[in-house]
Amino acid sequence: MLNLVLFGPPGAGKGTQSSLLMQKYNLIHLSTGDILRSEIAAGTKLGLEAKTLMDRGDLVPDEVVIGMISSKLDNNLTANGFIFDGFPRTTAQATALDILLKEKGTSISSMLSLKVADDELIRRLLERGKNSGRADDKNEGIIANRINEYNNKTAPLKEFYSSQNKLYEIEGLGSVEDIAQKLNSVIDNL
Ligand code: AMP
Repeated sequence: MLNLVLFGPPGAGKGTQSSLLMQKYNLIHLSTGDILRSEIAAGTKLGLEAKTLMDRGDLVPDEVVIGMISSKLDNNLTANGFIFDGFPRTTAQATALDILLKEKGTSISSMLSLKVADDELIRRLLERGKNSGRADDKNEGIIANRINEYNNKTAPLKEFYSSQNKLYEIEGLGSVEDIAQKLNSVIDNL
């Protein structure tokens, strides 16, 4: 199985690049943000609880997203592999993911981390907010909180994967095609 963690701060381009990677390598794209937004759209209890946190730019509890990922893995046991987008976001999530994958006889192949400067992230998210309909893309204070959450709780995961020799850092500035090519060349050399 090819199991990739596509990593980076909000606005780094993880969603865009995930769609390309999913097609090229025939992988299942698992975005916890997308799954949570579909729970909200469906009006589920989980969605309602998550919405308040998401609209503020806070992380939702680990057990919620770990449970979601666990059931997606169970439902796709014969997949070629997975792209994890926006997950894991904390050390507890990364540890849980390692255990879930191990139970299925597989593991993370690599973490591809997109690097983009904060001012560019803010510019991209505000631009996306004009059309995305996402409350958390519209307000600069909320965007700042999301970047803060990333720096405090999520960025340390680079060390988690680096200690397993799985971290690859990729410059996330440039055209979508250029960045895709850089990602492809890392994956093709794994
Ligand atoms: P995203 O679409 O990845 O930008 O996620 C949007 C929001 O969903 C985040 O700001 C969090 O509130 C929540 N979220 C998504 N993935 C996770 C996760 N792995 N852990 C905690 N919260 C998450």
